[in-house]
Amino acid sequence: VVMFDSLSDRLTGALKDLRGKGKLSDADIDRTCREIRLALLDADVSLQVVRGFIARIKERAKGSEVSGALNPAQQIVKIVNEELIAVLGGETRRIAYAKTPPTVIMLAGLQGAGKTTLAGKLAAWLIKQGHTPILVACDLQRPGAVDQLKVVGERAGTPVFAPHPGTSVGGEGVLGVSAADPIGVARDGIEHARARQHDVVIVDTAGRLGIDAELMAQAKGIRDAVSPDEVLFVVDAMIGQDAVTTAEAFAEGVDFTGVVLTKLDGDARGGAALSVREITGRPIMFASSGEKLEDFDVFHPDRMASRILG
Ligand code: GDP
Repeated sequence: VVMFDSLSDRLTGALKDLRGKGKLSDADIDRTCREIRLALLDADVSLQVVRGFIARIKERAKGSEVSGALNPAQQIVKIVNEELIAVLGGETRRIAYAKTPPTVIMLAGLQGAGKTTLAGKLAAWLIKQGHTPILVACDLQRPGAVDQLKVVGERAGTPVFAPHPGTSVGGEGVLGVSAADPIGVARDGIEHARARQHDVVIVDTAGRLGIDAELMAQAKGIRDAVSPDEVLFVVDAMIGQDAVTTAEAFAEGVDFTGVVLTKLDGDARGGAALSVREITGRPIMFASSGEKLEDFDVFHPDRMASRILG
């Protein structure tokens, strides 16, 4: 992940300075923590998250945590690694599939976050896992959003349920829903999925350029109407601290169950995105990093931590 290369270099550098020291003084620990703190802040990790992170490392490093097998420097590396995994969510969080299909996964986020692209990637990934997903187009705000989802569905090899009376979508005519009624489309899409025995329904919703009350009310309306098994908040890792404020607004507004980080292939500082778990308490479930369908995977906090720590 290019995005975290510089953070990775800085953290490795800070920890390398400790190597070869037989015993670490409190001053050594303070200096190392200061370097780690600056590295995280420069990578745009949120201040609140950095503060807690550094405090925990200091406390543990200065405490009497002695392990026979590790020298003091290795001990700190171990602590930093464990705390980084914790900030990123600890355990890998997998999709909570419904006991009775279909499992409904709703996508929410700002316009341009990468929701539509993600819908295709998620569908392709689900197909690989043996599922039979269908996409439901509930973004009826942005001109062209429905057509874009159809293109994405075709690439991913999955049908798209869309509100165009009389037109054929994925080989199936869809009738009777008003184009202005995303909640109706969501409901009908799930009915349709059930009838056709699709076991996962991915509901794409409208995004706006900024957070607004109407968008939030609409997303919440869809959520309340279809009771999704997962509500995934899709966030562009390139938008910096806005990732954190947007996440807070969506946590409050639609109460999502998990986060998808997109555009991790970007070269912007992506530390803010790494703060989203700690700030909202919701797990990061998937990571998306490019234009291709395969540029997508389950988010593993431990693997991300090892990558960042080099
Ligand atoms: P939506 O408005 O949330 O549905 O966002 P889109 O899926 O339309 O994505 C917005 C733009 O970001 C498009 O140009 C996508 O090709 C691009 N995009 C989406 N995901 C990624 C990603 O992981 N990496 C990169 N580099 N671009 C992405």
